[in-house]
Amino acid sequence: MERELLVYIDGEYRPKSRAKVSVYDHGLLYGDGVFEGIRAYDGVVFRLKEHIDRLYRSASVIMLSIPLTKEEMINAVLETLRKNHLRDAYIRLLVTRGVGDLGLDPRKCKKPTVIIITDVIRLHSGEAKENGIRTMLVWVKRDPVDATSHEVKSLNYMNSILAKIEANIADLDEAICLDKNGHISEGVAENVFIVQKGKIITPPTSTGALVGITRDVAMKLAEKLGYKAVESNITPTDLFTADEAFFTGTAAEIVPIVEVNKRVIGNGDPGPITRRLMQEFEKVVRDPKEGAPIYQ
Ligand code: PMP
Repeated sequence: MERELLVYIDGEYRPKSRAKVSVYDHGLLYGDGVFEGIRAYDGVVFRLKEHIDRLYRSASVIMLSIPLTKEEMINAVLETLRKNHLRDAYIRLLVTRGVGDLGLDPRKCKKPTVIIITDVIRLHSGEAKENGIRTMLVWVKRDPVDATSHEVKSLNYMNSILAKIEANIADLDEAICLDKNGHISEGVAENVFIVQKGKIITPPTSTGALVGITRDVAMKLAEKLGYKAVESNITPTDLFTADEAFFTGTAAEIVPIVEVNKRVIGNGDPGPITRRLMQEFEKVVRDPKEGAPIYQ
């Protein structure tokens, strides 16, 4: 029989089938908590420090005090991977407000719950990456920066789920959200980019988009390849008429977008700059200098 994966919960390692938390945990009752999605490639956790820094930044905004130091958290992630003998993995790290009562007051929750799941994830198939994906702008506006902004990576994903449902019922691969001003914000769990006359553009976080770690990697790779990469507002017209478009995200990696609301992007195939970035991305994620080694 295959060995069950072990899940870290508050310092203990439990088999996946018995990895459970209380129904009174406010992570479940209210989506009160923060999380990170991280990947390991070939024995190295890509940009682990950046993910941990973002987790603690998100926690500080919601006034959640994480009961581990950053160093202890890094060690817990690496140890969970080692316990599961993983070299390539998707890591889901959550810190919830913890167990409280049925009211939403976070003061009732005395101890945050820390969970580390190490498993696999496959969002878009190899075929989607090869041929590009079909998307649509949906009616669901991105949560604004003066509300449950996705600048904070909180457990509240209803905004993304509503958008995803629209893509599902239209039989499309992914949804793209606008902000309340009508500018492009992001996908449901991906940042979005367009290429316009050789310039690479992504929306600013004032649209409510997450400061994506893959977004940052893509911008740095673009600059390294000699392209200008900037943050700027993108209108639906800019997107429809872009030369190229793509998503970035830890789970999604870099995925070409070839259709938005039935408008064909470029010539309908993944564009040359997107392909270059995808190739460079494949290299950088496997560079041992770009992350934390699991096995010393
Ligand atoms: N936006 C949202 C809302 C997300 O959930 C994610 C996935 N973490 C991203 C963008 C992409 O961010 P990253 O590249 O850091 O994974």
